[in-house]
Parts: sequence; C-alpha cells; structure tokens
Amino acid sequence: MGRIAYVNGRYAPLSEASVHIEDRGFQFADGVYEVWAVMDGRLADHAGHFSRLWRSLGELQIDPPMSEAALDRVLRETIRRNRIKDGIVYLQITRGVARRDHAFPNPAVAPTVVITAKPQDFAALDKKARAGTRVITRPDNRWGRCDVKTVGLLPNALAKQAAKEAGAGEAWLVDADGYVTEGSSTNAWIVDAEGRLRTRDTGANILRGITRLTLLDLARECQVEVVEAPFTLAEAKAAKEAFFTAASAFLTPVTAIDGEQVGDGLPGPVTLRLRDLYVRRARERAI
Ligand code: PMP
Repeated sequence: MGRIAYVNGRYAPLSEASVHIEDRGFQFADGVYEVWAVMDGRLADHAGHFSRLWRSLGELQIDPPMSEAALDRVLRETIRRNRIKDGIVYLQITRGVARRDHAFPNPAVAPTVVITAKPQDFAALDKKARAGTRVITRPDNRWGRCDVKTVGLLPNALAKQAAKEAGAGEAWLVDADGYVTEGSSTNAWIVDAEGRLRTRDTGANILRGITRLTLLDLARECQVEVVEAPFTLAEAKAAKEAFFTAASAFLTPVTAIDGEQVGDGLPGPVTLRLRDLYVRRARERAI
C-alpha cells in the first residue's frame, strides 16, 4: 500500500500530493511544523506538541487553519489511512499561497496544511539507539528565534550532513561562548561530573523540545537531580554520560564527541534507565 498525504482538505497518494510553487513555505520557509511519535496508533506527548504548535503559529502571526479538535481528527485520519501502528506523523502549516512578496499577503490567505505519516520500527530503533552514537560539533550559526519551530532548517540540515559525512549520528551546535545549545534536530543533555542531569535552559536560543520537557518531569519524579543550565563543550567531553532527545528518537546515548570518548565510551546507565522509563511512559500516556 502506498503512502497517503493530507493536503488542504484532501487525502491523496504521496506522489500526487502537491502544493503551489508560490506557497510561502517554499518561497520563504514561512511556516511551522510539528512531529508526534505514534505509538499503538496513538499520539505521544499529544498536548505538548499541540501547545508548541499554537505558540509557533502565534509567534509568526499565522492564523490557525482549524481548531485543535479538527486538526486532531485529520492527524488521526492520516495515521489510519497509512495504517500506522508505530511511527511518526508530520504536520506542516505555512502562511499560504500568494504572489511572491516578502511582506505578508494582505488580506491574509488560507494557510497551507500538509500532513504525512510514516511507520517506524521502534524495536529496531531501540536496538540501534542502545548502541549509542557519536556526535560532532559545529558553530551554531542559526537565526535568533530557534524557539519557533519553523521549516527554515538549512543550518540544521547542513550540520546533520556534516555529521553524516563524519560517520556521526548528530551534530551538536556550540554558541560563540563555547556552550552547547542543542543538536541539529535534538536537545542535548549530559550527566555532569557531579552526577546531575544537565540540559540548556529555554532562555537560550533553542527549541523547547517536548521530549525534553517530559523527560525533565520524569527525572525529577525519579529523584534524579536536574539543572537547566548551559554546559561547555569541554564539560560535555568530561561528562559521565551524554545523550540527546527528540520525539522521533526518544533518548539516544552519545558515546563520543568530536572523536573524544564520553565516560567509558559506552551508553551510560542513567541514560538507558531514563530511556526505558520515557518510552514506557510515552506509550502508556499516548492518546
Ligand atoms: N531541537 C531541534 C532543533 C529540533 O529540530 C528538535 C526536533 N524537532 C528537537 C530539538 C527536539 O524536539 P522534540 O523533543 O519536541 O521532538
């Protein structure tokens, strides 16, 4: 069975689904997106991703194309039509189609809504994730509004490509002061020399990861000491453990940074424990 996409009110085979060439998403990256993990056909961290979506739209002054209830129905229908049990569902909303001009169309036009879904073998992913991955680092040269989940991801894509070419699974981005901000498509974490869990605070120019948010709650519940504070690249390399988080990959242990082993070079116990707890809880709480 071929994949089915939702575009502006219609479901179509992926190969036939299309948007206009003057869509502002294509012309200006003038749009936002969200990704939910689908577990047993249900949406993980449902509310968190929706609230970030509304915030992203609000920050860009894009009118919501429909209510949350309506959007939720279309997400589920796309999941159903693609027969996804485990996988991800991707939603993109752009400012819509208008003759090319940097300023917003006036009057406003209808936003473009695109949804796709794809299956993912979480058991295979789990096996791969448990082996850990290496990361490289790159200067963080993105714009100043990385808290908005826009489709403008070129610096992220370039960093991920550099990681791939270096045989690494992710690129961690480092700011001008030598602090790690986040990964190219993930949030960055360490278990520091004192055994505390550390991830960058959201006052910094980073995406407010939903997996990050859920994991902070979970760690606190498990009496793991957490600090939302910057860490330098040197601190990351000297950390006991390191890992990164995202909705599509949960927690992935980091075994080396720029070729330097983290801890004993194996996925750390705190990371693996939190990974198991996160995945179990996400599945239990998916709706
Ligand atoms: N940072 C960036 C830059 C990302 O693109 C993502 C994933 N979209 C994340 C962090 C992780 O966010 P989440 O846990 O909500 O998937």
